[in-house]
Amino acid sequence: MPSIFAGNDQHEEITFFHDKKINLKVIVGIHDTTLGPALGGTRFWHYAHEYAALQDVLRLSRGMTYKSALAGLNLGGGKAVIIGDARKIKNKTLLHHYGLILNKMHGRYITSEDVNITIDDIAEVSQKSSHVVGLPLAKGGSGDPSSLTAYGTYLGMKAAAKGVYGIESLSKKKIGVEGVGKVGAYLLSLLHKENATVFITDTSSTRLKHIQKNYPFVQVIPREDFYTYDMDIYAPCALGATLNTETIPLLKCKIIAGAANNQLADEALHGQQLFDRDIVYAPDILINAGGVMNVYEELYGPYNKNKAQQRVETIFEKCFNILQQSSQTKTPPHIIAKKMALQRLHEAKPC
Ligand code: NAD
Repeated sequence: MPSIFAGNDQHEEITFFHDKKINLKVIVGIHDTTLGPALGGTRFWHYAHEYAALQDVLRLSRGMTYKSALAGLNLGGGKAVIIGDARKIKNKTLLHHYGLILNKMHGRYITSEDVNITIDDIAEVSQKSSHVVGLPLAKGGSGDPSSLTAYGTYLGMKAAAKGVYGIESLSKKKIGVEGVGKVGAYLLSLLHKENATVFITDTSSTRLKHIQKNYPFVQVIPREDFYTYDMDIYAPCALGATLNTETIPLLKCKIIAGAANNQLADEALHGQQLFDRDIVYAPDILINAGGVMNVYEELYGPYNKNKAQQRVETIFEKCFNILQQSSQTKTPPHIIAKKMALQRLHEAKPC
């Protein structure tokens, strides 16, 4: 098995917590705190084994470092995973115990929403810990970050459309949204307003039913047919690593622009494969930063929604410029985005 510490991306701190009383297993990854405290959401997932959970938290926390650096935020990169099936074991007691675990990190890691963690869960965690953001507006927070994550993703998608089609409008574009959870559902509503033709897929039949109730016109594609489906734009909004050796040859789209973290299974290999296939990839660390931009305003408040929204709106221009630079220099866009993030980190590091 290859070392997970290989490469130049070493983490500052990785902590395993096991609350034996309720069998709560948590891994917190702090990647880099050059720019500020480590901030990133908590993912609740039924991993096949603990090594998979560790790999996920390492990839996710590293991604947060680059995302916040690129977004111009004074935040470090961190992320946590809770191991287990959220549908079976998530309850108030567990969330309170998770809050107590966060307190042991004394604010070195600040959490928020991610897969299977909702705004109500964050409010519950906050009963025991103050190291949380993404709290309900009624509790002095900035609300669910997912809506601004979706908005930033939508703007990144429009910037990519402008680059590819010469016009940013998504009207009549065939767009496949994979994963219609919190972010995917908000994205769907924005695309619907713009008169795009949207297809969706999700592993949760409950979720699909819920979406179809609100959007009866939306077409549901079976999971197994999704990647081969004829679409202009593919929007990954579920889990990571969906751009891989199996899926890339199947894709018929011209653009990939979605909210999922770590979409490229192997950054170097699969980013290049997309580039060679002339598929424009709007880098996830750039276009899904709307949520962290929103909670940033809460952290260093008082929260101002307009300020957060204005910050999210910078994603359009940044994405367009990176994609332009990519075609001019024949460099995959995710490499340009990461270089910009590394440059900011390098400038901020003490000599
Ligand atoms: P969520 O839990 O609300 O939704 C995820 C959805 O994906 C669920 O409906 C789930 O059933 C579905 N899903 C899971 N596995 C799937 C698969 N293999 N195929 C299709 N569907 C599948 O999570 P979310 O908060 O909407 O986050 C979605 C993605 O966006 C994640 O990768 C997350 O890390 C990323 N992200 C979220 C935010 C945010 O503000 N919530 C911010 C930045 C990035």
